[in-house]
This record gives sequence, structure tokens and C-alpha cells, in this order.
Amino acid sequence: QALAALGKEMDRAAAQSWEATPIVGGQARRDGKAASQQVMDPADNTRVVGEVTWSDQDTIEQALARAERAQWDWDNTPAARRADILRRAADDMESRMGELMAMCTREAGKSIPDGVAEVREAVDFLRYYAVQAERNFSEPQVMPGPTGERNELYLRGRGTFVCISPWNFPLAIFTGQVSAALAAGNCVIAKPAEQTPLIAAAAVRILHRAGVPQDALHLLPGDGPGVGAPLIADPRIAGVAFTGSVETAKLINRKLAERDGPILPFIAETGGQNAMIVDSSALPEQVAADVLYSAFASAGQRCSALRVLFVQDDVADKMINMLAGAMDELKVGDPALLSTDVGPVIDSEARDMLEGHAKAMANQARTIRRLELGPECANGTFVAPGAFEIDSINRLQREVFGPILHVVRYQGGHLDKVIDAINATGYGLTHGIHTRIDHVVEHISRRIKVGNCYVNRNTIGSVVGVQPFGGEGLSGTGPKAGGPHYMLRFATERTLTIDTTAAGG
Ligand code: NAD
Repeated sequence: QALAALGKEMDRAAAQSWEATPIVGGQARRDGKAASQQVMDPADNTRVVGEVTWSDQDTIEQALARAERAQWDWDNTPAARRADILRRAADDMESRMGELMAMCTREAGKSIPDGVAEVREAVDFLRYYAVQAERNFSEPQVMPGPTGERNELYLRGRGTFVCISPWNFPLAIFTGQVSAALAAGNCVIAKPAEQTPLIAAAAVRILHRAGVPQDALHLLPGDGPGVGAPLIADPRIAGVAFTGSVETAKLINRKLAERDGPILPFIAETGGQNAMIVDSSALPEQVAADVLYSAFASAGQRCSALRVLFVQDDVADKMINMLAGAMDELKVGDPALLSTDVGPVIDSEARDMLEGHAKAMANQARTIRRLELGPECANGTFVAPGAFEIDSINRLQREVFGPILHVVRYQGGHLDKVIDAINATGYGLTHGIHTRIDHVVEHISRRIKVGNCYVNRNTIGSVVGVQPFGGEGLSGTGPKAGGPHYMLRFATERTLTIDTTAAGG
């Protein structure tokens, strides 16, 4: 019954046309000469999902000026009140599950299970950072010290934080960044990915309705060079939180380093070259199911998705055959159908990049399986899932962000060479291990340099507060999103030292 009601709510919502505009001072800005554009459904490029008005110089300037003016009041709002606001937003988001899921499906091409997980994660972030705000920001911490002296440690907001987010978790990552920054006492200017402004606008409206002051949160839809770059260059900002590709993270890092003035905190969460090691003791059926989900769920468009599967040579033929058979069962098509496993990729640029890679693989490597797309995929930006056998992880120069899996055989006894090769990519996001031998788990997990390591399960779907998520090396700066240290990076620490003898007391 609940499912049927949710389905109806999704259908009702999907029949609407959504809108995103710059939201500055709580007002939707459609005025001026700012360009607007239709947002199309990636599963069917003939279907209009909504309309976006891009930000112009004027809206960027107004957002910066208003955020700066609002900082004192927001930072001095008690942490308990900020936490209440986030909890109200979480309740509202939960009550709009169907509408938000429909947006995830129509704007970002997410399957129904992905849509559920997306809204769930966004709600979890709001509630988790509410608790963290109360726990860490309510009272000063009194530090131990000599008699006659009192030392207090305060956490305060830094100022205007710029939050730049990707399209692949258009609600969860957007909400996670923004809510952590707000809960820590910062005003926020959010720049969502240009592919998914509609969902971001819905999230900002929810946060404002919940009580975030209108000048403490602004939304500036636009692309990187037009909106992200001027924000990063502006002397009024106090920090940048970024999730996206490593190439963009490096560019932003360079730009921040070139600025005059203070050194700003830069929190970057980027991509991965995620691997899984399967030894001959692993259970083949379980491996096939976990590999399929890790590599092809969300059409492989997760930073945590499996890219390179290492299989021990004496079981490799069996594992690869089983995997190929399991791939044949994947249903590629409309993400709004419950039967669909793999939806579209986000846009034609992504599709062209992935098709180019698959073509190169078909020439250079052994094709294990490449599915064919059915007529239901004709109008969308779909990429057929593929698996290719390569001789080394070094063949991959960069993250291949889509439903393409690479398989490498390794010789038993050469485990350390495999670990070294994975570490040598420089990425360090997720890693999977499939084995029934305990000391193999210990050996690999101690040596592999990644943020999140998973044993005998899939490598995706981390849970806020349970498996804090994030990488190292090329995969990000840390601290982990949804973990106890993340919010602290948005804050500045101040101490107050009082000579209690001087007051005569
Ligand atoms: P992207 O780097 O192309 O874009 C990310 C954001 O940066 C967008 O909002 C974009 O407009 C903005 N941007 C681009 N150029 C900019 C500039 N010069 N100045 C300021 N902002 C700029 O990434 P994407 O394609 O949107 O997202 C996919 C990538 O994100 C993948 O690499 C994926 O692995 C990564 N990702 C990482 C995590 C994680 O938690 N580690 C989570 C999700 C996605």
C-alpha cells in the first residue's frame, strides 16, 4: 500500500514541470539578462523535465554581499536552534519522498532503488549533522591547565562557504555539503552541477522553509567557469567544499593557491580507480552478484563503483563465465520502471566518452561481454554495460565513470604485486576483497591505501554515521562525509585563556 501511494506520488510529481533559478535572499531570480534553458530527461531526450535560469554576474554579486552580511547572526544562532532547523528540513524532505524520487529519476536518470537511497541519504545527513552540531558547537570545551588559569576551546563558523557539487548524487551530496557547512555556523553559497539544478533548487526551498535564514543560504545554478570560478576567486569567501572529478579539484586547488589573502580550507572529494581482489577461496555466486551491483548499479556512475576486478588465475575462467552470464540478465532501460537495473548515463558528453573508451577496449583487450541496447533506449543517453579483460590496471589512465568493468587475472602468490599496482594508481577511494581466508583480509586491508574497504560484499552504498565515506590521495582530502570529523573542517577553533587569579577570585 505504501509502495503504491509512493508510486502515485511519483507519477503526480513527474507530470509537473520543475523550475530552478538562482535563489538569492530567499527570492527566485528570473530577472535580468540571465540565460535560461530547458532541462531534458536523460532517459528520453525528447521529454522536457523543467527549466533552469542560470546565474549572472549580478546574482553572484548579490549572493556574496548578502551572505557576508548574514554571517554574524547565523554564527551566533545557538547550535541547538541550527540543529532544530536541520531536523525540520529532514522531516519535510522525508514527507516529499515521492516528489524528490521522481526528480532524481527524471533529471538524473536514477533508478527507483537509487532514488530511495538518495533521499534516505540526504535525510540522514541532515539528522546526523544536527546531532554533531549540538554535540560539538553548543558549549566551549574546557581544556586542562594550571591552577589559576581557565582555558576554553570554541568552534565557530568561518564565513561564507562555497559548496560545489556533482550531478551523480544531486540531492544527497548537495544536502550533505550544505547542511554540514550551515550547521557549523557558515553562510553558504551552493553551486550545483549544471546537469541537475532542479533537485538542488527543491533542496534549497526545503531548507529555507525549515528556517534557514534567507540570506544564510543562496543557490547559484550555472557551470564551472561561469559561476564556480568567480566564486572561488572572490576575496569574501572563507572556504570551499567540492565533490566532483579530480581534474576539477586540482584546478580549484591551483586557483585557491594563486589568490592573495588568507589560505582557505579546501575540502575535496573526488573519483576513484576502485578495485576488488577475488581469491580462489571466494564463493563464485556471491562474487558475481556483488560485482554486478558494484560495477553496474547507477549505470556505474558512483564514485565508489567497481572499475577493476582482480581474479586469481586458477578460478578466473569460472568467475568470468559466471559474471558474463549474470550480465546477460541486466535490464537496461527506463529508470522509472522497477524492473530496470541500469538507467541512462547523465548526458551525451558522458555517453560519447564511454563509447570511445569501450571502442578502444574492444580493439586492445578481450571483450568478456558487451550487452546490446534495446529500442527502449533509442531516445536516451544509454551506454550498454560492458566487461573487458585487460593485462594490467596501468592500461587505465583515468577514472571511467560509467557501466564499463575491467578484469585482470593475477597469479596466486603475487598478491603484493596486485596491491602495489592498485596503490600505484594514486587513487584511494573504495576497495573490495572476496575471500574466506582471514589473514588475506588482514594482509590486504592493512596495505591497501583506500578510505573505504569492503569484505565479502558489494563496494557501494555507504551509510551516514555507520561507514563515513571518503578517500585519500587523488580521491580526496578527507575528512569523511557522514563521519564525526567532517563538520569540524568547516569550523575554526578559537581558544580563550583567562587568568582567574587576576580578577581577585
Ligand atoms: P566535475 O568535476 O565535472 O564537476 C563537479 C562540479 O564542479 C560541478 O558543479 C561543476 O560545475 C563544477 N566545476 C567545474 N569546473 C569548475 C571550475 N573551474 N570552478 C569551479 N567549479 C567547477 O564532476 P562531475 O562530472 O559533476 O561528477 C562526477 C565526478 O565526481 C566523478 O569523478 C566522481 O567520482 C566524483 N564523485 C566523488 C564523490 C566522493 O564522495 N568522493 C561522490 C560523487 C562523485
